[in-house]
Amino acid sequence: MIERLLLGPGPSNAYPEVLEALSQPVLGHLDPVFLSLLDETSERLRSVFKTSNALTLPISGTGSAGMEACFVNLLEPGDTGIIGVNGVFGERMCEVARRCGAEVLRVEAPWGDPIDPQRLLDTQSANPRARVVAVVHAETSTGVESEIAPLSILQETDTLLIVDTVTGLGGVPVNVDAWGVDACYSGTQKCLGVPPGLSPITLSPRAVERIKNRSIPAQSWYLDLGLIGDYVGAARKYHHTAPTSMIAALHAGLGVLLDEGLEASWARHRSVGSQLQSSLVERGFKLIAQDGYRLPQLTAAWLPEGSDEATLRRALLDGWSIEVGGGLGAFAGKAWRVGLMGHSARPESVERLINAVDALGLNGSLN
Ligand SMILES: *Cc1c(COP(=O)(O)O)cnc(C)c1O
Repeated sequence: MIERLLLGPGPSNAYPEVLEALSQPVLGHLDPVFLSLLDETSERLRSVFKTSNALTLPISGTGSAGMEACFVNLLEPGDTGIIGVNGVFGERMCEVARRCGAEVLRVEAPWGDPIDPQRLLDTQSANPRARVVAVVHAETSTGVESEIAPLSILQETDTLLIVDTVTGLGGVPVNVDAWGVDACYSGTQKCLGVPPGLSPITLSPRAVERIKNRSIPAQSWYLDLGLIGDYVGAARKYHHTAPTSMIAALHAGLGVLLDEGLEASWARHRSVGSQLQSSLVERGFKLIAQDGYRLPQLTAAWLPEGSDEATLRRALLDGWSIEVGGGLGAFAGKAWRVGLMGHSARPESVERLINAVDALGLNGSLN
């Protein structure tokens, strides 16, 4: 198979150790050897999420499965959910919450701006019976980071805090316990350097309590965290067949991340991200995310006037084997989303991309 340099909004390139783990023989989901690998994976996830939450595990499915697991387990019909919306993924949260039968209160910010945490808190004060406040930490549609730490005060209320760290985890600091996050989900194929297929999630003791006290079962049987917890926890009761090889791959990827060190990984993402952002600005690109809230691992940028976005992007793929992402929504056809995540977050990635862009010229035909 052809090898791509994956610089889109995910998937990113997998670490070599992860590909090695994927090539190992398949284990059964109740094999004691596999179960100890699963326990160790959960332990590694606790280190990466910075949490002591017992219910910390990889959900079968991509990041959206983790999102859905949090919402369907924590919301019941008639509940109120306060949701920050400043891009595609906040919008997706609203749709998932709506399908749970919840009433959604949107706290919006323009695409490219962060969500003001004070506005979420004010909305919660005005609606103290709201079941959840939910916010995307790293908006992959715009490259914006929203502040989570000020929301830890929700711990003093009856409202739970759900945070999407699909693009954040491994690339920028995430601190589940210190930020008072009750339900947090991520994805393997962004800054963790593992192929798509699993969604690491973690739930606080009070989120677990909420699930136990539901008046009706979660509408999703597959994502029911009570049932899944009986397999991941001491009971080891079969629920669905765990994707054992993907969990081995995640185990290996988390090993690479923890060996490097979280601080070192954040510093690496920061350094290559600023290298890319200044190189793009030098070439006439305009960064979409507000200054001070720019993610290093995902850069959304308007192409210079007169560029042929789609032709150039296709030429990068066909001629240079480099994948970058197009813009979503109002950004389609005019902007790029360039990811430098996990194993893709290396100075050589920036050099290869910039060299290719310079060689192609902005209309996508060779200079
Ligand atoms: C990618 C992403 C998701 C969805 O993950 P999938 O793996 O595509 O299901 C959710 N939230 C954010 C912020 C993402 O970047």
